[in-house]
Amino acid sequence: MTRKVAVIGAGIVGVCCAGWLQRKGFSVTLIDRDGPGEGTSFGNAGSLSPSAVLPVAMPGMLKQVPGWLLDPLGPLTIRWSYLPRAAPWLWRFLRCANEAQMWHTAHAMRGLLTPMFECYEPLIRNAHAEDLVRREGCLYVYDSEETFRAGKPMQDLRRKLGAVLEDLTESDIQRLEPALSRKFRWGIYAPANGLTVNPHRLTRTLAEQVVADGGRLLRAEISDIEVGGDGAKIIRTPAGADTADVVVIAAGAWSHRLAARFGDRIPLETQRGYHVTMAKPGVKAQRMVNWVRRRVFATPMEMGLRVAGTVEIAGLEAAPNWRRAEILLGLAKEMYPDLDTSESTHWMGHRPCLPDSLPVIGPSPRAAGIFYAFGHQHVGMCGAPGTGRTIAELVNGEKPQIDIEAFRADRF
Ligand SMILES: Cc1cc2nc3c(=O)[nH]c(=O)nc-3n(C[C@H](O)[C@H](O)[C@H](O)COP(=O)(O)OP(=O)(O)OC[C@H]3O[C@@H](n4cnc5c(N)ncnc54)[C@H](O)[C@@H]3O)c2cc1C
Repeated sequence: MTRKVAVIGAGIVGVCCAGWLQRKGFSVTLIDRDGPGEGTSFGNAGSLSPSAVLPVAMPGMLKQVPGWLLDPLGPLTIRWSYLPRAAPWLWRFLRCANEAQMWHTAHAMRGLLTPMFECYEPLIRNAHAEDLVRREGCLYVYDSEETFRAGKPMQDLRRKLGAVLEDLTESDIQRLEPALSRKFRWGIYAPANGLTVNPHRLTRTLAEQVVADGGRLLRAEISDIEVGGDGAKIIRTPAGADTADVVVIAAGAWSHRLAARFGDRIPLETQRGYHVTMAKPGVKAQRMVNWVRRRVFATPMEMGLRVAGTVEIAGLEAAPNWRRAEILLGLAKEMYPDLDTSESTHWMGHRPCLPDSLPVIGPSPRAAGIFYAFGHQHVGMCGAPGTGRTIAELVNGEKPQIDIEAFRADRF
């Protein structure tokens, strides 16, 4: 008998889980309070990097934090009124900034991200969404020799972990990205990277395919999930209830609230990020560019040129601080001096983050038939397809192709 699976959350992670579950023959209902891809998957930088395996908390980071916080253009801010609530999480996060944890996270993430394109491929082919993904590499650029040299150990580390990174000369940078400011004289090129030209449309298209293949898409806020006496899951919404044999919680930065229902206390925090998208940039950006010192990505998208980045610790409820987006706009102008910023939109989203920069992928330790797929922090577009395949294998009772030990929900 075909088993019914409810996937809560129609972001890129939930949608990839739904697509892979259908490939295994499950009957899938995808549930979201908003439309597919309208959460964090809406406005990210669209980077598809199989080598983005290093954790956010890196050894030596603690020394950099005061400088970041004091720099108004810096990559990190904390809303001070939220600090008391965030403090326990921040403490755990900073304690992860050591060598042993770095290698542990990097090895586990390599298992998840290396098959990224392989795991996207059948879903994208099935949805005829090939136009949404480009594989033209990414430039990492530096505006001083000092920062380039300082970044060398990080590049070596990434190479050691399998990344192909080619050194670039000044003229290589100008040839590859003529619109970029001439101040970027040092750089490296990651040819294996790709991008999506529209993360929202990619997520929506894959969700529409789930429906075309017989799945259901339900627009509802899940208020509770109960396990009935017969093991059936009752999913409660303000409008009523739905039932399923298995539930996958893929609700991004809000997932811990649903996991707590089963006694699983998972330290999930949001690292809020922003973007600005210039609809008529007036410059021809060819490839994705990362300004390493400023930690911002510029991505040529079908909606225009998007510049995204920054981390803001301010929780799930606080209103966006659009000053962060204005800062990105200024940095975009520095990157592309001829950029036209007259038509721009801005956005804020919630990266779902765990202290060790690893997602939770696998069964609930306490409730049979409940699976978790969340916490993909800065790399959810990269980690989603591998997560989808893994969840489908687990729900189907198979041994997953990747090692999921590091992703256990009870590791905290
Ligand atoms: C500025 C920025 C740039 C980024 N750049 C990149 C990048 O270049 N590459 C990359 O790989 N990643 C990037 N990321 C990270 C990436 O966007 C996220 O990791 C990813 O989108 C998370 O996907 P998700 O499906 O887990 O969550 P979401 O997309 O947030 O989806 C979760 C869904 O669950 C729904 N939901 C939550 N609670 C409930 C409930 N109770 N009932 C019903 N529905 C519910 C929400 O409505 C939402 O649609 C970036 C993030 C930001 C903020």
